[in-house]
Amino acid sequence: MSAAHLGTVATAGATIWLTGLSGAGKSTISEALIVRLREAGHRVDILDGDEVRQVLTADLGFSREDRITNVRRIGYVAEVVARNGVLALVPVIAPYAEARDSVRERHEKAGTPFVLIHVATSVEVCAERDVKGLYAKQKAGLMSGLTGVDDPYEDPTNADLRLDTAGRTLDESVDAVWAVLSARGLV
Ligand code: ADP
Repeated sequence: MSAAHLGTVATAGATIWLTGLSGAGKSTISEALIVRLREAGHRVDILDGDEVRQVLTADLGFSREDRITNVRRIGYVAEVVARNGVLALVPVIAPYAEARDSVRERHEKAGTPFVLIHVATSVEVCAERDVKGLYAKQKAGLMSGLTGVDDPYEDPTNADLRLDTAGRTLDESVDAVWAVLSARGLV
């Protein structure tokens, strides 16, 4: 009987950061991935961007500086969680390379695996999905500073996977992330 059947798989933790525009599919993929990881016996947790902003970073806004601080703080928590054998999923936009790189560096220094998944769904597709109504709100002039529209999103050049969800099923997207985790020996 495999360890998975005993429900006691001793695995390394890691931070799996899903970066990309609002509506790209970061949360949806994370939620589906969590189910699969749990089924396989992994300890997992999720640091959801919107939830974190209500507690850990409620003092921050959406300026470049605040967005960078937001990502750095989340990165700190994720590393602590990951170093204790948990797969920490982080579906957070993280638009600036500087902040993503700083989180990666923190992990490298600590010897904690860090995986960057770029959920690279185009802004056109994200705006069409408009899950939270933000694209319509921006278009109507009711808000500004929407990532990928009138606020920067710096495409990662060092992602472990670039995943465009357009024309892919959720299962296919999760499979693609799983393959990366498998190649890294994390699942
Ligand atoms: P984000 O967390 O990146 O802001 P969400 O996960 O909240 O985005 O929303 C993504 C939307 O796209 C959901 O409504 C989801 O059902 C849809 N979607 C369509 N195809 C896919 C796919 N292949 N992977 C993930 N989401 C998809």
